Amino acid sequence: MPERIKNIVQMMEEIAPPYLAEEWDNVGFQIGDINQLIDKAMICLEVTDAVIDEAIAKGVGLIISHHPLIFRPIRNIRMQDPTGKMIFRLIQHRIGLYCAHTNLDSVLGGVNDVLATILEIKDTIPLNNTRFEKYFKLIVFVPHSHVEGVRDAMCRAGGGHIGNYSHCTFQTEGIGTFKPLEGTNPFIGKQGVIEKTPEVRMEIIVPKEKLDAVVQEMIQAHPYEEVAYDVIPLDNAVNRHGLGRVGKFKKPLSLFQLCQKLKEKLGTASIKFVGDPDKQVQKVGLCGGSGGEFIQEALNCGCDCYITGDIKYHDAQYALHTGIALIDAGHLETEQIICADLARRLEEAVQAHRYDLQILLSQTNINPFQVL
Ligand SMILES: [Zn+2]
Repeated sequence: MPERIKNIVQMMEEIAPPYLAEEWDNVGFQIGDINQLIDKAMICLEVTDAVIDEAIAKGVGLIISHHPLIFRPIRNIRMQDPTGKMIFRLIQHRIGLYCAHTNLDSVLGGVNDVLATILEIKDTIPLNNTRFEKYFKLIVFVPHSHVEGVRDAMCRAGGGHIGNYSHCTFQTEGIGTFKPLEGTNPFIGKQGVIEKTPEVRMEIIVPKEKLDAVVQEMIQAHPYEEVAYDVIPLDNAVNRHGLGRVGKFKKPLSLFQLCQKLKEKLGTASIKFVGDPDKQVQKVGLCGGSGGEFIQEALNCGCDCYITGDIKYHDAQYALHTGIALIDAGHLETEQIICADLARRLEEAVQAHRYDLQILLSQTNINPFQVL
């Protein structure tokens, strides 16, 4: 049975919540019918005409792209304009489009974490625009018969996620007491009699954005007429999202060795760098894609080197003057690593949901540059 685009969008939004996108960005479901049934979704960094050709040839119903196709407001959709033509063709061939851009950059486990992991950079924290996700603790008292159902409902609605772990709850046994008053229709006990019943106190953490949904689902799955639960705001930030990352190598390496490592790990044809090739690098800042604007932040963090793409000439001159080493490993090269990782994570989510959906990784070369 094919799957609704809506359900794939939901899986994507769990991986990269849209509220983490920068204000100037345009992310989410951009083109198509959210209720359309599809059996293949394809991941790419960027939508091009060749990527659309590939999607048509492979019978893909949804393209998931990192770069948004619709970025600035559009006034018309015409075949004679490059963006217009792509939008037109996607609609013509009933191919939906979903984009996860700066939300996928900022989220824990997103573009920058994948880049840091590939380079074996440890103890990373965000480089810029750090956002602390506000969390709540939800405590609910459940009879034994409904423990699994209530847990499942709360986790499905977005509770109980810590890092890469789902279904994180804690439960203790106890005795609940209550006296059903006149006009009630109790699940357990009789009107006017104090009832003592074994219950489980279940605790779960919930991000602020999911709190209403989790409480609603919990009440739906709970058998009691009046559900007893507490919502407590937490002061300990559980997740820190943000643009770019700062971290450390276990052992220092020379700038030259780091360039070689990047070339090898990212499979790039060429790398540009600024600084003494023998400079020892241990603390490093990085930002996949076009991160030239964060050189100052990397300097402020005391980084020996900053890795990104699209570095401008004058920014390189500035870095040389301040002493921070720079590596321009390419916009596309520092970001395309996310595609395979995203495919793997979506595949896991598809299996967990038992969806009948194939996740493909685009094989089209989208690099506009050639190197001589
Ligand atoms: Zn990019």
